[in-house]
Amino acid sequence: MAGVAVLVGAVSLTSSASTLAPEESWLDATRAVDALAAPAPPSAPTPSRFATVSRSAQRSEGDQAGAAEATRAGVGTAVDQQATRRSRALAALGRQARSYARELASERWALPLTRYRITGTFGETSYLWSTVHTGLDFAGPTGTDIHAVASGKVIEAGWAGSYGYRTIVELEDGTELWYCHQSSIAVGVGDVVARGQVIGAVGSTGNVTGPHLHLEVRPAGGDPVDPAVALAEHEAAP
Ligand SMILES: [Zn+2]
Repeated sequence: MAGVAVLVGAVSLTSSASTLAPEESWLDATRAVDALAAPAPPSAPTPSRFATVSRSAQRSEGDQAGAAEATRAGVGTAVDQQATRRSRALAALGRQARSYARELASERWALPLTRYRITGTFGETSYLWSTVHTGLDFAGPTGTDIHAVASGKVIEAGWAGSYGYRTIVELEDGTELWYCHQSSIAVGVGDVVARGQVIGAVGSTGNVTGPHLHLEVRPAGGDPVDPAVALAEHEAAP
C-alpha cells in the first residue's frame, strides 16, 4: 500500500508539471524535480514511473515522517494523508517556480545618475560619431556619482580612446554595460559591483563636447542595443 501512495505522488507530479505555463516548464523540470525527487520508503517497490523523475538520492523530511506515520496510523489513512501532503507540496512548489520566474524576468536595474538630462539617444547621428550613436547620454556636472545600473563584475577599467575613461561591467547573463567619459573610476578589474554602487564619476574624457555619462548596453558583449529600452525592460526607464 505504501507503494500506492508513492505512485499517487508520482502521478500528481506528472500532471502538475504538464499544467504549468510553457515558459515556466523548464523551471518545473529542473527545480521541482530536484526538490521533489525522493525514493520510495524502503519497504515499497519503486514504481517505474516515479523512477523516471527521481534524480536525487536524498530523502525529504516529509517522506520520513510519512513512513513513520504509516507504521503508527494504519495504512489506509497514511496513504490519504501522504497523498494530500504531496499534492500540497506540489502546489507550493508550483507557486515557488512561478514566483522565481517572475523574479528572473524583472531583474531590476537602476538609473546610473540620480539627476541628469538626456542629451543623446541611441541611433542618433552626429559629426561626433563615426557611425550612429551607440549609447544613451546622461548629462550631469563633472564629478557626479555614477551608480552601477546592475550588479556584475568589472572586466575593464581604464582609458579607451574616444570613450575616454571607461568601465565595463559584465552581468551574470553576459550582458556588458559600458560607462564612458568618466572623470574618475572608482573600481578595478575583477571587482564585483552591486546595483546602485558608486563606480565612478561623470566627466568629459574622450570624444565629447561636455560632461556626461555615455552608457552602452551590449548583450553577450556583442552589438549595442538601445539602453533606454533595456532600462525600461528592467523597470528603470530613464
Ligand atoms: Zn554618447
